[in-house]
Amino acid sequence: MFKDTDITLILKSIQFAAHKHRDQLRKDGQTPYINHPIEVAEVLWVEGKVRDPRLIAAAILHDTIEDTETTPDELRGLFGQKILSWVQEVTDDKSLSKAKRKHMQVIHAPTASKGAKQIKIADKICNIRDLIRRPPAKWHVDRKQEYLTWSDQVVEGLHGCNQLLEVSYEKTMARAWSNIK
Ligand code: NDP
Ligand code: ZN
Repeated sequence: MFKDTDITLILKSIQFAAHKHRDQLRKDGQTPYINHPIEVAEVLWVEGKVRDPRLIAAAILHDTIEDTETTPDELRGLFGQKILSWVQEVTDDKSLSKAKRKHMQVIHAPTASKGAKQIKIADKICNIRDLIRRPPAKWHVDRKQEYLTWSDQVVEGLHGCNQLLEVSYEKTMARAWSNIK
C-alpha cells in the first residue's frame, strides 16, 4: 500500500517538472510539454503495473535534464541519488550531434538498469502514440517511418525489463505501421 511519503514524492515531482517545462510545447506545436512525462508515468503505472513510487517520479522527471536547465545537483538534492541515476540514464548527451545521440541510444539500451529500461520503453510507447495522434508539425510519412524503425532498434536492447510494457509497445507499433503510410 502507498504511504503518505510516496504520494508526496509523486506530487512534488509533478510540481517540479511542470514548473521546469512551463514554457515548452511538444513538437506538434500545441500540447503542453508536461503532458508527455505525466503520460509516461501513467503508462508505467497502468500498463506496466510498476509500483515503485521512485520509478514513477523518475518518469515524471525524465526529460528535465535533457530539455530544461535542470542540473543533476538539483535533482539529487530534491529527489535523491536513485531517482537522479534513472533520469541520467535516459538523458541524451546534448554535446553530440542528433544522429550520434540516436546511435548512442541503440548502443546504451542493453546496458541500462531495469528501471531505466522501463522508463525508456514507456517513453517510446508514448512518443509513437504521439506520432499517430499529434505528430510533430511538418513530419512527413518518411520521417515518421524512420522514427519507428529507429525506435525498434532501441527497444531491441530493452527486452526482458517488463513483459507487460513490451506487449503494449508491440501493439502500439503495429497500430503505428498501419496508420502511418
Ligand atoms: P527526433 O527524432 O529526436 O524527434 C523525436 C523526439 O521528439 C521524440 O523522441 C520525443 O522525444 C520528442 N517529441 C516531441 N514532441 C513529439 C511528438 N508530438 N511526437 C513524437 N515525438 C515528439 O527529431 P530531431 O528533430 O531531434 O531529429 C533527430 C534526427 O532526425 C536526426 O538525427 C536526423 O538525422 C533526423 N532527421 C530526419 C529528417 C527526415 O526527413 N528524414 C529530417 C531531419 C532530421 P522526448 O520524449 O525526448 O521529448
Ligand atoms: Zn520523453
